Amino acid sequence: MDFNLTDTQQSYVETVKRFVRNEITPRVMEWEREHLFPWTVIQKAWDLGILNLSIPASVKGFEVDVISTALIIKELSYGDTGISTSAMCNDLANAVIAQHGTDEQKEAFLKPFAEGPMLASFCLTEPGAGSDNSAMTSFIKKKDEKTYLLNGTKCFITNASYASQFTVFCKVGKPAGNFMACVIIPLTSIANGDAGTNYLQGKEILLPEGGKVIIGKPEDKLGQRLSNTAGVTFEDVVVEQDQIIGDRRLGFKYVVDVLDYARPMVAAIGVGLAKRALDVTLEYTKERKQFGQRICDLPVARESLVKMWKRLELADIALMKAAFKVQEGSPDRGLYASLAKNTAAEAALFCANEGLHLHGGYGFMSEYEISKLARDAHIIDIYEGVREVQDMIIGREIV
Ligand SMILES: Cc1cc2nc3c(=O)[nH]c(=O)nc-3n(C[C@H](O)[C@H](O)[C@H](O)COP(=O)(O)OP(=O)(O)OC[C@H]3O[C@@H](n4cnc5c(N)ncnc54)[C@H](O)[C@@H]3O)c2cc1C
Repeated sequence: MDFNLTDTQQSYVETVKRFVRNEITPRVMEWEREHLFPWTVIQKAWDLGILNLSIPASVKGFEVDVISTALIIKELSYGDTGISTSAMCNDLANAVIAQHGTDEQKEAFLKPFAEGPMLASFCLTEPGAGSDNSAMTSFIKKKDEKTYLLNGTKCFITNASYASQFTVFCKVGKPAGNFMACVIIPLTSIANGDAGTNYLQGKEILLPEGGKVIIGKPEDKLGQRLSNTAGVTFEDVVVEQDQIIGDRRLGFKYVVDVLDYARPMVAAIGVGLAKRALDVTLEYTKERKQFGQRICDLPVARESLVKMWKRLELADIALMKAAFKVQEGSPDRGLYASLAKNTAAEAALFCANEGLHLHGGYGFMSEYEISKLARDAHIIDIYEGVREVQDMIIGREIV
């Protein structure tokens, strides 16, 4: 295993670092205060070629390898984890099409993302089915020989208010069906036209093919305020055969495949946040003096900084190992994806909380970035499977 980055990977890292330095860091605290959805940043990220990394070259995508994807997301997350969550969700929603879709489906559902900036949503979670997604009740039912109707409600869906396309997991035949399918619902009627709107309310979209999609009011969240999260209800949405990805009984397998790919990306979000928390804390503690010394030189405070650095470095190693395993398609990739996700979530929470503490009272003031990082860090331990679910996977694999 080679820890050196290739020239291409090095150039990705430098490009994203520059993007974060110029486009995100100077304004992130202002956007955060105003709860603005940073559509212009998404647009610029698309122009730069750091969005939609999983789209195959056959439909003009970048088809970026998993290790490079992790590096890009890590650097973007150093700027803001709400923005990187929004960006990463495009790949979460689109990876299943890239992995299991036909050439025609890739052309229809992936190519538009390579042609212009737009967002997608991955719709798995439901009010009654969070960690246990098998309890979902959204379902498709045959309408006639060629079409199905989709009904159901999803919650906590990233990008929902701005999405031009939804990747939806649902039961087949009835709400308590044994099989799960994956269907794609494109909103061709809105495309990316109104993405610049700052949604404060929900909306209803009547689909020309039949049925409607109801997007809830954006959630008011503790952290990651620059990502959009809302509920989505599908009411009698007409689904043609060619909107069903792969085998309509293998949705569970597709969820596992996509989460194996995506969990290292959440780990990359955690590592990016942990690094930012360490850096802002180093900067602060090198500046502030108490007891006649810089805080970073007080032995016990120095020990906290060392612990932060160690957690960050270990999480980064776990991330790279998981990305490598996923890249190789190794049979134990799920195990390492879960390890990386938990290690990175722990590092993010630890570095943000210790960092806040080392800022003293100033860390509790919303004007200081460390307070934002401490709020943002919590979700890394929750989305794409809570810590306990990752431990369940690890336990199952090692026993
Ligand atoms: C900001 C945000 C963005 C999100 N984006 C998306 C998205 O784009 N698409 C999507 O589909 N979902 C999304 N989610 C949903 C997210 O993946 C779920 O919230 C998560 O999987 C947990 O489900 P839950 O909230 O229902 O918690 P629950 O499943 O109710 O779990 C609550 C708690 O119970 C405990 N617990 C649960 N299961 C176990 C277990 N097996 N063993 C021991 N303890 C357990 C844990 O402590 C857990 O934290 C998002 C959520 C948030 C908050």
